[in-house]
Amino acid sequence: MKPSFLPLFCLLFLLTDLHSAELARDGATRWKIVLPDEATMVEKTAARELSEHLELLTGAEFPTIAEKDAPAGGKSLIFVGNTAKAPKKDYKFDEILIKMDRGNLILAGHKKRGCLYAVYSFLQDVVGVRWWTPDDTFIPKKPRLLVADSLSVSYAPQMVSREMYHRDAQPGVFSARMKGNGGIAPEYGGAVRIINFAHSFYKYLPPEKYFDAHPEWYSEINGKRKHEHAQLCLTNEEMTRELIKNVLETLRKNPDAKMIDVSQNDWHGCCTCAKCKAIDDAEESHAGTLVLMLNKVAEAVEKEFPDVLVESLAYQYTRKPPKTLKPRDNVLIRLCTIECSYIQPLDGPQNRKFAADMEGWSKLAKHLFIGGDSQ
Ligand SMILES: [Zn+2]
Repeated sequence: MKPSFLPLFCLLFLLTDLHSAELARDGATRWKIVLPDEATMVEKTAARELSEHLELLTGAEFPTIAEKDAPAGGKSLIFVGNTAKAPKKDYKFDEILIKMDRGNLILAGHKKRGCLYAVYSFLQDVVGVRWWTPDDTFIPKKPRLLVADSLSVSYAPQMVSREMYHRDAQPGVFSARMKGNGGIAPEYGGAVRIINFAHSFYKYLPPEKYFDAHPEWYSEINGKRKHEHAQLCLTNEEMTRELIKNVLETLRKNPDAKMIDVSQNDWHGCCTCAKCKAIDDAEESHAGTLVLMLNKVAEAVEKEFPDVLVESLAYQYTRKPPKTLKPRDNVLIRLCTIECSYIQPLDGPQNRKFAADMEGWSKLAKHLFIGGDSQ
C-alpha cells in the first residue's frame, strides 16, 4: 500500500501550489506593498510592520510603494489600508479585512486602524508569527511563502474596548499586536479613551468647593452629612443639576471624547438618607440610586453629544444590578472584578456571585464593560 500514497501526496502539493500565491521563493520576492497616495500614520505603521516581519520570515525585502506608482492591473501587490482596491463598505469599529483578490493581497478594514489589525491577523493566523511577550517573538523561517488564493477573512471584534491591566502586556506595540486598543500611540491608531476615568464623583463636585455651602449634596451616614470616605447624595436634584453642568463642560473641552466617566469614589460610604435608602431598598441594591442619577446625566448628555456614552462603575456596593431600573442606552456599565479569582472559572466558588451579577446587568444594560484587577 505504502508506495501508492506517494503520487497522491505529490498531487496534493501540486494542487496546493496551483491554488496559492507565492509571496516569496528562495528568500526572494517580486511582491510589493502598496499604500494609498495619502497614507495615514496608521497605514504607514501597518506597512512597516508587515515589511519588517515578512523580511525576517522569508529573507526577502518587500518594498513599499505609493498606489499611484503601482502598475494598473498589476499583480503580486499587497494593498494595505484604504487603497482603491480595498472593498468599500461600512466597516465596524476595529473591523479587519484580509483577502486574496486575483493575484493580489488586500489588508484593509475600519479607517482608524483596521488595516493594522489586518496585518497582525495575517502575520499571526496565516503566516504563523507568535508574539508571546513584548520580548519574545517567534517568527517561522519560510524562504518560500505560499498564501491560499481562497484566503478571505472579515472580522469585527465584539468588544469595543480591549486593554490588558498587566504590566508585561502594557507596552504599546505589544498591546497593539494583541489587538488591544487602550494606551497605544496615535501611529497605532490611538487609545480608546474614557474622559475622567475613574472614581470621578469628586472630580466634578470637589468637596472643598461645594461641601460647606451644600452638605446635602454628599452622603448622609449615621444621620450626618459628610464628605470624607463618602459619596454623593444621588437623589439630590440640585446636586444632579450641578453635576450635569460640570459633565457637559468637561465634554465641551474634549470634543473628540466618545466616553465620559461618572463614577463612585474608590471607597464605600454611599448615601443612606431617607430618599436614597427608599430607592436602594426597593431595588435591593445601591445601584438603584446610581442608575437613576446616571440616566439623568445621560439624558442631558445625549441632547448635546448624541454619540457619547456615560460610563460608570458597578463596583463593590453597586456591583449587584438593580431589580427594575434600567440604564439608558447611552449609559455604559463597567463591572469590576476586584473580588474575583482569575485562576477560577466563572462558576468557581469565588466567582459565582460575579457571574450572576454580570448576567443580571446584561439583561438591563445595552453596553457592558468588564474591568478592574483581581485578588
Ligand atoms: Zn441621599
